[in-house]
Amino acid sequence: MRKGITTRIVGPQERFDQRNQMHTQAAIGGVGEKVKERWTKESIDPFRRIFYPEKRAKNVPMRSWRDVADGPINPERMPVDDPETMAARIKEAGKFLGADLVGICELNLASVYSHTGLRIDFAKGTAGEEIKLPHRYAISLAVEMNYKHLRYSPGWIDNAEVGLGYLNVAKPAVALAAYIRELGYPARAHFFINEWVLHVPIAVDAGLGELSRNGIIITAPFGPRVRLSTVTTDLPLAVDSPVDIGAVSTCEICKKCAENCPSQAIPRGGKEIVRGVEKWKVDAERCIRFWVANPNRWNDCARCIAVCPWSRPNVWYHRFSTKAAARSRAAIKILLWVDDIIRGKRPKPVIKWLEYTEGGSPISDKPVE
Ligand code: SF4
Ligand code: SF4
Repeated sequence: MRKGITTRIVGPQERFDQRNQMHTQAAIGGVGEKVKERWTKESIDPFRRIFYPEKRAKNVPMRSWRDVADGPINPERMPVDDPETMAARIKEAGKFLGADLVGICELNLASVYSHTGLRIDFAKGTAGEEIKLPHRYAISLAVEMNYKHLRYSPGWIDNAEVGLGYLNVAKPAVALAAYIRELGYPARAHFFINEWVLHVPIAVDAGLGELSRNGIIITAPFGPRVRLSTVTTDLPLAVDSPVDIGAVSTCEICKKCAENCPSQAIPRGGKEIVRGVEKWKVDAERCIRFWVANPNRWNDCARCIAVCPWSRPNVWYHRFSTKAAARSRAAIKILLWVDDIIRGKRPKPVIKWLEYTEGGSPISDKPVE
C-alpha cells in the first residue's frame, strides 16, 4: 500500500454546520414537507425502529450509548513515553473491542462540525450550539458490513445491515473512549446520532482508505462496505498517513456507482472543489429524495456500495485484483471487466430474507419531487 494524498486540499477549508446536514434538513422540512413527512414517520420495518431514533427510545440500544460517549477521567494518569507504542496498543485495543480497521490522525478542525444539528438535537432543543472540541487526535474505527445483505439494496435487508453497521461500530468507539479515560486522558466517542465530527475525512486522514466517487471511503479489505465511528482524544499517539490503494485511480475509470444510482446523484464527470477540497460532489438531496420514494419497500439505499467492484468479499482473488489495481491502469481495467462479467453492469437487487419478499428493482420508483 503506497502512502499518498489522493484527495487534495486546494483552498481554505470551512467548517460545516451540522444543521445543514441532509439527514437533518430532511427531518426539519428543508427538503420540502413531503420528504419531511416520509422521513420522520415511523417505519413499517421493525429493524429500522431498533436501529434509528423513532418513537420508543428504549428500543434503540444506540440511544443509551449517547450517555456514556464521554465521562470521568481517571485522575491517575498513565505516562506515555513512546507515542508509537501507545498507538499500536490503541489499535490493538480498538480491534479487541470490535473494530475491523483502526487508524489515527491529527484532528483537522475542518473535520469538526461548527454547530450541533442532528435530528436528535432539534428534538432536545440543543441544535445550533457551537461545537468546541479541543482534542488533538482522532482515532478512526471501521467495521465491515455483510456483502450478501448489501446486495439486496434498495430494500429492507440492506437497510437493516446498515443500521447494524452503525450499532456495531458505535460499540468499539464507546468502549475505546472509556478505556482511554481510564488511562487518564480525555476522550469522546463519536458515532451515528452522537457525532461532532465528519467521519469520512478523518478516516481518509487516518489512512483507512480513499475518498471515492460515491462520496464515501474505499478501504483495501472491504471497499466501501464499512461503517465508521471516531474517538477524539489528547492521549499522545503516533499518527498514520493517507494512503493510495488504487481506489481513486479506479474511480477515474469506473462509473459503476453513478450508472447504477437510481436517483442519478453521483457525478459521472470529474472532481469539483467543495469547501476547499477537490472531490466528486454527490447530490445529497437527490439521494435522500430517493430514500423516501417508496416507504413501503425501503427507508434508505446502499446501491452505490453494493455495486462497487471494490465491495466484493475479502477473498484471495479479490485481494489480488485490488492490490494489482494499485499498480497499473491495465490491472484496473481487468478488475472492472471481470466484475462486469461476473456480476453484470447492472447487478440486480436480490430479495427474500427472513419475512422480506418485497424490494428489488428501483426502476419504477421515482425520487420524491
Ligand atoms: S463503483 Fe467504481 S466509481 Fe463508484 S466508488 Fe466504486 S470504484 Fe469508484
Ligand atoms: S445511496 Fe442510492 S440514491 Fe444515494 S447516491 Fe448511493 S446509489 Fe444513489
